[in-house]
Amino acid sequence: MKKLFEIKNLSVHYPVVDGIMGNIKGYVYALNNVDLDIYENEILALVGESGSGKSTLGNSILKLINHTSGEVLFKGENILNKTKKELKGFRKHSQLIFQNPYMSLNPRMKIYYILREPFIIHGIKDKKEINERIKKILELTGLSEDVLNRYPHEFSGGQRQRIAIARAIILNPAFIVADEPVSALDVSIQAQIVNLLTDLKKHLNLTMLFISHDLSVVKYISDRIAVMYLGEIVETAPKEEFFTRHKHPYSQALLNSVPVIGGRRENQKELLSGDVPSPQNPPAGCKFHTRCPYAFDKCRNEHPDLCRLSDGHYVRCFLFA
Ligand code: SF4
Repeated sequence: MKKLFEIKNLSVHYPVVDGIMGNIKGYVYALNNVDLDIYENEILALVGESGSGKSTLGNSILKLINHTSGEVLFKGENILNKTKKELKGFRKHSQLIFQNPYMSLNPRMKIYYILREPFIIHGIKDKKEINERIKKILELTGLSEDVLNRYPHEFSGGQRQRIAIARAIILNPAFIVADEPVSALDVSIQAQIVNLLTDLKKHLNLTMLFISHDLSVVKYISDRIAVMYLGEIVETAPKEEFFTRHKHPYSQALLNSVPVIGGRRENQKELLSGDVPSPQNPPAGCKFHTRCPYAFDKCRNEHPDLCRLSDGHYVRCFLFA
């Protein structure tokens, strides 16, 4: 498999500024030395609780926020060093789908102009080409042409998300970050949008980073899983391997938190308790030790590295080092 992205040692630390003098009194350690590859034409799911750093990672690799250190190679080139002008080509090939489609669509623009806008931004003026592409994208996303003359508020949440997806793919990008794209939708609509994203991946050879806290959705859509906890990757594995042979205690706890119909899970010990600690004051040693049912002395003092268990399966835990 060919790598589309290589994320190397990526950290994002936000300064916490004190009062009028503006002194820095600490940092929010949002991302810490993240190493992760994203392969062409895969859907990599990034999972973890709220506050684990998933969206920060998604925004960082699109260079929508500033990083503290590290590199993000896109087709071998570090995009974090590039100027705004140099990033124009990259911007055309990479797009973001937001959780809330209403926020991402300009309420004062008719859908036609919303879909036309990316062409204008990238200097494409040929009206015939634009209209043909809009027609094709409406077909691909299951929308009819009569949406073009209407405003975003005239649509349901699911239809708005289809329009947001249509806008994201209209310039035929190579890569999409989908940040919790179905979590604001009714369960009945979620399946339709997940099916749409899966179809688009096939038809357009898309690569996708699919950010979600919902493992039941991830199980359906992804090819590979990466688990984040307090700004670190703690486990990565191909989907089947992850759902049958996950190893990290945090992965076990996340999976045990997924509701099952009609009963208890066998290993209730691994249910998550408490909240994610503050990223401003992360625990020493293994960051998960304050919630881990298997923690021992070493976990409180030393930081575990990611270690390889099998092809593509890595885990950050002393139990498997
Ligand atoms: Fe738990 Fe220790 Fe493994 Fe961390 S290193 S997940 S605290 S057993």
